[in-house]
Order: sequence, then C-alpha cells, then structure tokens
Amino acid sequence: MQYLPVGVRVLVPLGRKSITGIVYRQHEGELPATIKVRDVIDVLDEQPVVTAEQLRLWEWLAQYYMCTLGEVLSAALPSGIIDDDYKALTTQYIHLHPSHEDPRQQELTIASLRRAKSQEQLLRCYLRLNNNGVERRTLLEDSGVGSAVLRTMIDKGIFLEQERAVSRLRLYTGVTRQPHALDAQQQQAVSAIQQQWQDKQVTLLHGVTSSGKTEVYTHLIEQMLQQGKQVLYLVPEIALTTQLTDRLQAVFGERVVVYHSRFSNDERVEIYRRLGDRAPQKSTDFSGTPLAKGDKARGEVILGARSAIFLPFTNLGLIIVDEEHEPSYKQQDPAPRYHARSAAIMMAQWYGAKVLLGTATPSIESYYNAAIGKYGLVEMTERFRGLQLPKITLVDLQRQYHRKEMYGHFADPVVFRIREEIARGKQVILFQNRRGYAPFLQCPSCGKVPKCPNCDVSMTYHKSSNTLVCHSCGHTQSPIAHAQSPIANSQSPITNRQSPISHCPKCGSAWKLRGIGTERLEEEIQSLFPNARVARMDLDTTRRKDAHQQIIDRFAQHEVDILIGTQMVTKGLHFDDVSLVVVLQADSLLNQPDFRSAEHAFQMLEQVSGRAGRTGQAGEVMIQTFDVKNPLFALLVAHHYRGLYEQQVSEREMFCFPPFHRLIVLSLRHRDVHRLEHSSGVLMQELQGVFGNRVSSVITPLVSRRNNMHIRQLRLRVEASANIVRAKQMLRERVDAVLRQTDCKGTTVTIDVDP
Ligand code: ADP
Ligand code: ZN
Ligand code: ZN
Repeated sequence: MQYLPVGVRVLVPLGRKSITGIVYRQHEGELPATIKVRDVIDVLDEQPVVTAEQLRLWEWLAQYYMCTLGEVLSAALPSGIIDDDYKALTTQYIHLHPSHEDPRQQELTIASLRRAKSQEQLLRCYLRLNNNGVERRTLLEDSGVGSAVLRTMIDKGIFLEQERAVSRLRLYTGVTRQPHALDAQQQQAVSAIQQQWQDKQVTLLHGVTSSGKTEVYTHLIEQMLQQGKQVLYLVPEIALTTQLTDRLQAVFGERVVVYHSRFSNDERVEIYRRLGDRAPQKSTDFSGTPLAKGDKARGEVILGARSAIFLPFTNLGLIIVDEEHEPSYKQQDPAPRYHARSAAIMMAQWYGAKVLLGTATPSIESYYNAAIGKYGLVEMTERFRGLQLPKITLVDLQRQYHRKEMYGHFADPVVFRIREEIARGKQVILFQNRRGYAPFLQCPSCGKVPKCPNCDVSMTYHKSSNTLVCHSCGHTQSPIAHAQSPIANSQSPITNRQSPISHCPKCGSAWKLRGIGTERLEEEIQSLFPNARVARMDLDTTRRKDAHQQIIDRFAQHEVDILIGTQMVTKGLHFDDVSLVVVLQADSLLNQPDFRSAEHAFQMLEQVSGRAGRTGQAGEVMIQTFDVKNPLFALLVAHHYRGLYEQQVSEREMFCFPPFHRLIVLSLRHRDVHRLEHSSGVLMQELQGVFGNRVSSVITPLVSRRNNMHIRQLRLRVEASANIVRAKQMLRERVDAVLRQTDCKGTTVTIDVDP
C-alpha cells in the first residue's frame, strides 16, 4: 500500500463533485463500520503544500479556540494554494537578439544606424541599462524613443520581445544603510533581552514611547538574519505601518517582506513560494521570488498583521509582537477567534524560536506573566536623547461649561494653547474616538434617540453625506437637512420640516445633535482657526486606497497644522513637529462595560500622548473630561504604568477575571427574542449543572440586537489552575446537546475563548 505524505493535496469525491483536499492524517488500524471509505481520485503534489508546523498550529487553534479545523483552514490557507489557480504577473521585456551578443557586432550595428538616430539612441540606451534584458516600459521611458522605433528594430532582428513573470511583492530595491548605533539604554536592553532568552522563551520589552524600541528590534533582527533565520514581525494593523516598513527596508532592503490579509490570492501564493518553496509544483509558470541558494542563508523579515502567523515558515528564529497590548491582535469574527500573541507564543515553541513582546503600555496579562517570572522583563524608562515624557494636564469640563468658558466643544484654555502652538509653527493632534458628525440625535422634549431598524444602536449623523448611519450594520437613512454651524448654536436642531426623520415622531420636536464626532470637530476647529490647515483621519476619510498614507505624509511634511482623528492617530506614528495633543472627551473611553476598560483607556491615552514632543522640547497633552477625579487620570499624569497594573491586578483577582481565571463567552443569537431567551435559559441551566456558579446568569449585552439578530450571553470562568482542555470538551458537548433540542433549534452559539 502506498502512503501519502501528510500535507499533500488530493482530489477526492464529495457527493457527485470532486474537490481538492489536504491529507491530514493516516488512519491506523481497523475502520469503524459506520465510516464509508472512498478512493482518492488523484494526488496533486509530490511534496506537501502545508508544513507540519502549520498543521500543528491549525490543530492548536481549533482545539484552544473551540472551532473546527475547516474554519481555521479557510482563514489560514490562500485559496490559490488549494485550487492551484495562481497566475503569474507578467511584463514585456526587451532583449538583444542572440546574434548581437558579441560587442563587436553591437559596434557594427550602431555604426549602421548612423542615419537612424532614434534607433541608435534606443540601442545605446539598452546597452546602458542592460542587465539581462530591460523592461519594455523602462526602455521606452529612459530612451525617450517611440514604440514604433522599437517595433522596427524587433522586425529587423536586433531586439527580441519576451514576456517575463515578475514578483508582485514590491520588494525594496534601493540602497540600504547600517542600523543606527544604539545608545546606552538600548544597548543594555539588547543584552538584557538576550540574557533573558537564555532560559525564557518570551521576553517583554516595556519601553516608554520614543525610547527607541524599534531600534532595539532592528539590532535583534540583524543578529537573527546573520544566522540565516526568519523573523516574523507582527504589527496590529499593517495599514498603519508604512513608517515602520520604510525604517526596516532602509536597513534590510529586499529581505523585508510585507504581508497582510488584503493581499490577493496571487500575492499570497508568491509569499508562500518565497518563504517555504511550497507552492503547488504544477504551476510551471510560477514567478514568486524564491531567494537564490546563497541568499536563503541570509534570512528574511516578514512584516505582517495577525494573519501572518499562518505563513509557512521554514527557519523561524524570532517573533516580535510590536504594541503587544493592542486589542486588534484578537480576531473577533469569524472563527477562529484567536489571539495572535498567544498563537505566536505557541508557534515559537514548535520552531524553537524566541518571542519579544514590545510596548510602552503592556497588557495586564503579559505584565503579570513577567511579574511571576514566566516571561523575561526588560524596561526602558527614558526617551531617546533624554527627551521628557509629555506633560499631561486635565481640563475640567464641568467647570468650563458652568462658567461658559467653552468654544463649541473646546475649553478656552485648550483653544488658547492650540493657537499658541500653531503660531510658533508647531503641529497639533486632536483625538476623539467617534467618527461622523454627531454620535446620536435626541428629542429635546421626550428624550427619544433614533435607532437603527436592524440593531439596538443609535444612528450617527454624518454631515458631509447628510445621512444617518448605523456603525454596526451600515444601515443608512437619508437625507435629512444640514445642521447649522455648531459654533453659532452648538445644539442646533436639524431644521428641514419636510424630512420624515428630521423630527421626533411622537412630539414633533426637531432632533438635536448630541455628542461629538470627528467630522463636527473638524468643522469647529476650522471655524476657530480659519487659516490653519486641517486634516481628518478616520474610517470615513481613509476608505480610498492610499488615502491613509496621503494624510500621514501631508502631516509628516507639515503641510497640515492640525490633525483630527480617531484611534488611528494614536498608533505608533512619529511626527517631528507635534508639540500638543488634545483629547476631546476622555469620558467615553472610561465608561465601557468591559473588565479591560480602564486598561484600554490608559493604553490609548498614553499612546496618543506619546505622539507629542518626540523631538526637541517636551510635548504637552490636554485631556478634557467631566471626571477629573477619576483615579486613572492621576496614574496617567504620572505616567505610572506600574500603578495601573497593581490596581488592575488586585481588582481582577477579586472579581475572578484574567489572568486569575480564564474567561469563555458564549453569544447566543436568534431572530425571535422569546425563543432566544428560552434557549439561553436552557443552556444556562445545563451549564450550571456542570460548572456550577462558574457560569453566569443570562446577560443582555449593551448592544442586544445586531442585524436583526437578538443577542444574549453566558460567561464561563474557569480557574487558571483547572484542566481547561477537559472543561472545553464538556462545554462543547453540552452546547451541542442543547442546540439539538427541538425547542432550541435555530439558536446559534458562538464561543469566544479569552475574549
Ligand atoms: P519607540 O518605538 O520606542 O516609540 P522609536 O524606535 O520610534 O521609539 O524611536 C523614536 C525616535 O528616535 C525615532 O525617530 C528613531 O529614529 C529615533 N532613535 C531612537 N533610537 C535611535 C538611535 N539609537 N539612533 C538614532 N535615532 C534613534
Ligand atoms: Zn419626542
Ligand atoms: Zn444597524
């Protein structure tokens, strides 16, 4: 009998169709009678397209995050690998005809072209550029000669035209430089990290903003590359990392490969090919850019968002998880609902690789692991060049409103400071984590707030499109009349009497705009500072491809004085001239119904503060809030992460939250709220029978309906010391059993492990 290697693709019958599958396991021994065996139709590969390490990761994800292997597979493997429908990207190349390879022949031809100046020019240009053929477009552009001339010379047999496959990976081809020399603190950090790695697999680098963590990474990466190893450099959102890409490419050149989930299938296949030489072999037209043998020994850096963990690494030496505290490392929907940081730490074990978690504001979990000695801990407390951390001041909105010392949504002292900074040629960042114009409308008489017909979410008013938009399902209602200038009348009603949604249906009062979105701030700031150059960065202004990059570039080149944005402006960006950061309303960050609310608020505020004063004088941060007494602010003003940590850890221990207990959240959904409540109750009782009071009662989440589906939740807390594998098995069995009951049919349950 012939054994098929695990990981090769096979064609198998499914019903009447045949589909491509991947050999997962060899069956040992007798098969149970209930299983029907069918023959494989065809074996598509000699070599596996999936590595043993990849399979292991898939199994782990499916088991740990309680989903199916199929769900993992569709997240993990580009369909171009399975279906083998890869198409190389080609471009026209021009070659000298073999009869012209001899330089003497070239001389003769040039002489013969004396009367055909353009042809001579083209040939000379070719000879100057030639490096085993020249791209047609480049040749025509550089020579300035028309394509008819080229055609003539091809007809004459001087040139040959050839279609060639080229890489889609847009690798950097410019010159590279040495990494910067490290300062004393950074040098110490590098050796401390290496020291920790001697006996710990994971080390946490806690370095304040602008301490030069990226420089530390760069030195560690270089050492790995010198050993011919691969480095996986994970970032929270690849769209926000062009500055980082540039910095890495300046040092590591074409050894930096960028990967993100918006890559086309063909691009993914090329990455696969390059990393592991494991793309389907039948693609004879394959072009990817596998490194030459000698190059392979030089290693490479793969810069990617969370899904980069699925790539087929062959020689992984280091995983860097940059901004390890970022919530976007956790995938929400669909399954697998995995955390890339946890997956990275598991993977590193199988590859024998090291992990570096880096951040200015560690997640409580990671810092806890460092505190108990499971991870190494290395701290950098000073900014590079001894710069001061930004000075944080609180602006008491209660007092400001009471004294009527407000201009629109800006407190007078804030307006004053913005004016000063702009006058002295500095830049300002305004942070408000709501997009649109007004997060909700409200009836001034009865208090009614218009909600999305599909969701339990208030509709956000967008002025530029004059629509109400649901930020949960995208439902849009339009049009309504434009509001008046918010400065003249900051609670201005929407005045169009014809519009059916311009008034409260119950009392006929005109809606009032409530809350502040970035769009409204832009309008206010522009009317406050008519001469300032203002840009806005949020989901609405960055939909177009490259729009995001353009805004950053304009701000970096100081073509913009004031940048307004959502959390997009808080992330890892570096601008030389930013001296002031204003947080318009910190309160909405503090009051989230989530056990991580304080942690996330601290992280977001500390990160956005870190954008100020990154060169020269210390920067300033002004935080407007109605709640100046909130203890979180005292910690923030002192940049006292450790204080936050201690306070959070004791709270979490007391209330049985991670890292002391593991959390699993079950979300139940049904169109019919009564049926949902019934099945939620049944599942709760069933689970309480097994897990006792570790199971919560039925929770109605803050947003209790999305896309016409009602939602209820159950929360399971398991002691960190308990047998979690067994607990998950029992949980899965009970959930499946309940969902099979006729009175619970139609309810769907999604399971979120470590939410
Ligand atoms: P972090 O990642 O900790 O926020 P960065 O690595 O972005 O900090 O460093 C902040 C700034 O200081 C960057 O502009 C960086 O180029 C510069 N910098 C840091 N360390 C050095 C160094 N050793 N040599 C030259 N420039 C440095
Ligand atoms: Zn009303
Ligand atoms: Zn909706």
